[in-house]
Amino acid sequence: MNIPKSNFSEWYNSITKDAQLCDIRYGIKGFVVFMPWAVMSMNRMYAMYEDALERRDHLPALFPALIPESYLTRESDHVKGFVPEVFWVTEAGLNKTEERYAMRPTSETAMYSMYSLWIHGTRDLPLKIYQRCQVWRYETKATKPFIRSREFHWIEAHNCFATREQAMAQVYEDMEMAQEIIHGKFCIPFIFFKRPQWDKFAGAENTFAADSLMPDGRTLQLPSTHMLGQHFSKAFDIKYTDEAGKSEYVWQTCYGPAISRIYAALIATHGDDKGLVLPVRLAPTQVVIVPILKEETKAKVLEKCKEIKKALECCFVVKIDDSDKTPGFKFNEWEMKGVPIRIELGMRDIDAGIAVVARRDTGEKMKIPFAELDAKLDEIAQAIDKNLLSKADTWFATRLSSATKMDELNDILEKNPGFVKVPFCTDEMQGEKCADLIKEKCQANVRGSKFGSDEVPKSEKCISCGAHATIYLYAARQY
Ligand SMILES: [Zn+2]
Repeated sequence: MNIPKSNFSEWYNSITKDAQLCDIRYGIKGFVVFMPWAVMSMNRMYAMYEDALERRDHLPALFPALIPESYLTRESDHVKGFVPEVFWVTEAGLNKTEERYAMRPTSETAMYSMYSLWIHGTRDLPLKIYQRCQVWRYETKATKPFIRSREFHWIEAHNCFATREQAMAQVYEDMEMAQEIIHGKFCIPFIFFKRPQWDKFAGAENTFAADSLMPDGRTLQLPSTHMLGQHFSKAFDIKYTDEAGKSEYVWQTCYGPAISRIYAALIATHGDDKGLVLPVRLAPTQVVIVPILKEETKAKVLEKCKEIKKALECCFVVKIDDSDKTPGFKFNEWEMKGVPIRIELGMRDIDAGIAVVARRDTGEKMKIPFAELDAKLDEIAQAIDKNLLSKADTWFATRLSSATKMDELNDILEKNPGFVKVPFCTDEMQGEKCADLIKEKCQANVRGSKFGSDEVPKSEKCISCGAHATIYLYAARQY
């Protein structure tokens, strides 16, 4: 790594290559190979998210990747939103297919076609099913590995309820789950915004999305959860018979934590000039032992390394780097890969009965007696994750500001980009013109209102049109 993180875009391209997180040389534009070091962390992220879902009574399933065109086009807003991005399958072997099949861009229509067969009465509700899968979208904007590519990896949860209130409660639970996992475990700060009507998910009544910030102050959308109302249940005829024998359409929600994109936020949030920095709980290797080898004591030192590895393996993923490279080279390499804890061990240390332990997040070095290593490493690991969270939160807080005039908004977005709270006339469809003006004058997007946002004083005027303001919305430059 020789690019400072302050030059974020270049730094990001360089770290994804140098740490071997992905290979962008695959022969289809916008399709990227995700490499082992990234996939091992992503697998840990999946496991934590899936565990959180299952603890909340979601069940796993796997639906086909191909969706018949006749399913995809059943809900009219959904079609308009997604059809321009679909990859189509039109041939199978030597034959043309009977109809076109979409490579799923998202699975509402695949899953709901089956839900209508599965749901009959109140005892079939709530139905809460998720799947871990890839989706394909023909992105026309510039692609960037993990941030935006034409194939990405995610979890999608799709739920049916008897009442609107139960569906809304699920939306809140989804937001709380993101807080527990993405903030609490991945140490990534974000804000949940209720998207304005002109920017909601195609086919939803309302969209709530978690927006994180990249180091350059531009926002990246992490999971979103959608109140679908009865739009899809009417299109797919998903009905249940209530206790009184009356047939009712179900209320639906869906939720999409895009793990590959959250991984981008992980790289960006915690990395530094030396490379990746990973929370201990997500690192593929958590402790690396680097032996300081001299020919005459080599066997003894390696033996001690193995002994330490064995003792630590109860609680950590440990690797001994006994390759032929110099210790200095190894230090740099493992720092670049973000391994949270390094143990250095030479004959002199062994004679003194101590190990030298270095923290990746702070660079701090400590001498720890062998007998205390186990307990101390536990403490250090917890301290690292705690430090990453508090560092990220502190930085995030410096990127929240507010403006009431367009010039002021533009000035902030130039000097201290992040989320800027602005008074706005409305987040209903008629406000879109005012949002367009912000885009034109400040190259920023209106992300929505903050959940539980403060009341607007009567004197406030819309930053765009000057009419009476009814709501505070947040503007940011986006990925
Ligand atoms: Zn306005």
